[in-house]
Amino acid sequence: SSFDEADLPETVRQNIRKANYKKPTPVQKYSIPIVNSDRDLMACAQTGSGKTAAFLLPVLRGMVKNGITNDMFSEKQLPQAVVVGPTRELVYQIFLETRKFSKNTIIKPIVAYGGTSVAHQLSQLSRGCNILIATPGRLLDFINRGKVGLANLQYLILDEADRMLDMGFEPEIRRLVAAPDIPDKYNRHTLMFSATFPNNIQELAHEFLRDDFLFLT
Ligand code: AMP
Repeated sequence: SSFDEADLPETVRQNIRKANYKKPTPVQKYSIPIVNSDRDLMACAQTGSGKTAAFLLPVLRGMVKNGITNDMFSEKQLPQAVVVGPTRELVYQIFLETRKFSKNTIIKPIVAYGGTSVAHQLSQLSRGCNILIATPGRLLDFINRGKVGLANLQYLILDEADRMLDMGFEPEIRRLVAAPDIPDKYNRHTLMFSATFPNNIQELAHEFLRDDFLFLT
């Protein structure tokens, strides 16, 4: 098995080769075809399993396929994909992977997290953002300030969902998913990754994902 079967854009393929990824990890092998076929997904994945590329590669493919434009120098950015994660370390790691795999494409990733200057992140954001990778609080802050809108959202990814709930981010996540301009679950793709599946995570999955979502353990 190789990434050749994943039907990825040629530029993304080149970036995979440059990253020296030769063979998909198990979570990549199973999740890439599911996301490529437009199914929603709840996947069990630990850190180190390769879960980042498991959602990132098919999401990049989908964004390229659906067609995106770079809205440079716009006060309000309308990203096609939003990735939410619990910590600045995690979202920064995801950002680095996204930048690596989207190199030489039109896709522009932006990272945003709490605890640092809002002004700097906003000026980065205003130069264009197709995929926003953020912690829940900072993301809502940008939405509330009118700097980020969800009207163009194609993919919503909740990474380390169990950890986000453990850290008390359930209200923020619920507010995000209830945003007035967010496409409903039948008009977006939603992917959830979690290391564990307590009841509260299963409830969120049933609320946020389409009824025919796949549960990958
Ligand atoms: P993750 O679980 O997404 O945090 O990935 C863990 C580490 O494995 C990261 O350093 C990735 O760059 C690397 N990695 C992920 N998938 C692959 C792959 N298919 N081949 C080689 N390295 C990989």
